[in-house]
Amino acid sequence: MSAVPDPVAGTPATLGVPDLTTWLRRYAAEIVAHEQELTDLDAAIGDGDHGANMTRGMTAVVAVLDQTPFETLDALAKKVGMTLVSSVGGASGPLYGTFWLRFAKPLSGLARTDAATLGLALRAGVEGIQQRGKAEGGDKTMLDAFLPALAAYDAAVDAGAEPTAALRDAATAGRAGCAATVTMVARKGRASYLGERSAGHQDPGATSAALLLECAVS
Ligand code: ADP
Ligand code: MG
Repeated sequence: MSAVPDPVAGTPATLGVPDLTTWLRRYAAEIVAHEQELTDLDAAIGDGDHGANMTRGMTAVVAVLDQTPFETLDALAKKVGMTLVSSVGGASGPLYGTFWLRFAKPLSGLARTDAATLGLALRAGVEGIQQRGKAEGGDKTMLDAFLPALAAYDAAVDAGAEPTAALRDAATAGRAGCAATVTMVARKGRASYLGERSAGHQDPGATSAALLLECAVS
């Protein structure tokens, strides 16, 4: 996304509440645009509701954005998390909800964040998904997009990248991680009931996670 430069001259680029709002609105639009794809992917290895689940959740998030102004990143992220937990029925609701609730914590009281603190928020969010769902990389879940994205983000920040550039690297790695789920055998979630027959299909949750990361930057 276009993280705007801080108005204070000489400070590094930061990501603020308007940027996160744009990110979420873009994601909601992309989820609607990809609803059928997410449904079809979940129909192949799950129960076919991932598109509807995500559309319901992100439509509720947009309604919140339309109604409520947010002054801090953590207040916004926390509300997004609570909205997803309460509006999405499937496994993905509590998992994405946990992501945003944990993402909020390192951003406590901040209207803007630099790249390093945003990295802490992303890490907290992804670790929250791991704790909640007890999955690991390679289990053919949304974590197979999130974990490589997080590693790429951190590597970019270590090399001096500002938020936009680091998020772009994260999105690229997330999309590659998502594509890699095609050959994986699911070990967590509904798709794990299929065992070996889950191989040959891209994971729906990894697909919605790759979209989330892409919406941060484009
Ligand atoms: P449900 O499986 O309840 O129908 P969804 O279809 O909305 O929920 O979401 C399915 C996605 O959730 C999967 O494709 C997978 O990426 C993700 N998922 C399921 N279980 C886990 C887990 N334990 N940890 C991480 N992600 C998971
Ligand atoms: Mg499902």
